[in-house]
Amino acid sequence: MPKSVVNKLPNLSTSWQQQLAQAITSPLQLLDMLDIPHSAFANCGQAADNFPLKVPHCYVDKMQPGTPDDPLLKQIMLSSQELEQVAGYSHDPVGDQNATAIPGLLHKYHGRVLLIATQTCAVHCRYCFRRHFPYTEHQPSRNQWQSALDYIAEGTEISEVILSGGDPLLLSDQKLAELVSRLESISHIKRLRIHTRLPVVLPDRISDELCQTLACTRLEVCLVIHANHANEIQATEIDCLQKLRSSNISLLNQSVLLAGINDKVDSLTELSEKLFSAGVLPYYLHYLDPVSGAAHFNVNKDKAIALIKGLQLRLPGYLVPRLVEEIAGEGSKLPIIGL
Ligand SMILES: *Cc1c(COP(=O)(O)O)cnc(C)c1O
Ligand code: SF4
Repeated sequence: MPKSVVNKLPNLSTSWQQQLAQAITSPLQLLDMLDIPHSAFANCGQAADNFPLKVPHCYVDKMQPGTPDDPLLKQIMLSSQELEQVAGYSHDPVGDQNATAIPGLLHKYHGRVLLIATQTCAVHCRYCFRRHFPYTEHQPSRNQWQSALDYIAEGTEISEVILSGGDPLLLSDQKLAELVSRLESISHIKRLRIHTRLPVVLPDRISDELCQTLACTRLEVCLVIHANHANEIQATEIDCLQKLRSSNISLLNQSVLLAGINDKVDSLTELSEKLFSAGVLPYYLHYLDPVSGAAHFNVNKDKAIALIKGLQLRLPGYLVPRLVEEIAGEGSKLPIIGL
């Protein structure tokens, strides 16, 4: 059997950890799997230098073979355009370095802190605002999050802890259960929010044990997934989201507005409707952060505003995501267009 065929065979018994270990990292292998000529992505290799390709097989299975413009492929495939230096695009576009309360903990906004629970992701999204994040400086030390938890315990105005990363759901069930239990012992913490792309890129990660932990905590749990296109949500993802819903978890979605991927009223409408039917409400549509290497994903602001106005004419208000941008030093994410 040719290698490209072997790679396409699904193996239903593979654990999520194995699927993660088997994630594709070779651009040429990926193109071969999808029957796309290498010439469609010429000179892209150098883009991998600081931020290599990484994508699980189950995400690739949702792409259309033979389609270099596939909206899922474009989110994760290297491009020679990443190498262009564009004025105004930097390595720390949202001021995370200045908001670092202590290593591994960002405290930017009133009442909520963001814990960098892991340094890794299951997928490398090319537009990621943390693609240059100095994770090594934010490594949780041997006594696991102790100083972050001390900070949270002392900050009595903090009512919500956001687990982010990297992808926090790459922690083991046991580690997450431990973290949840330490957080729920801090009496002023009401809500636990988890920012994760795994229900979309590695749905098998949503184990019964994880759902059990989240269903049983006294904390109100909100899970914010990250889907940018309706094709990302198919039968397996819907099952996984339904499982989370039945564990009494509120589900929201955030997307990034991406040129050539979801910058059409039709595709954003389809995404919102698909999300809702899977039990997820659209939350934010992020205006692209100016991170170096991602300028080719930028949609100009007039067009972004026109898209939201188009959505408002097509959808009920609760299915129109809030178009926001993050400006370093501001007290919240800023709406670009009022709803
Ligand atoms: C985005 C973000 C939050 C959450 O903001 P919301 O508007 O509540 O979704 C919190 N902390 C940091 C550092 C963030 O970047
Ligand atoms: S999953 Fe999130 S943090 Fe990880 S690369 Fe993608 S956008 Fe960035």
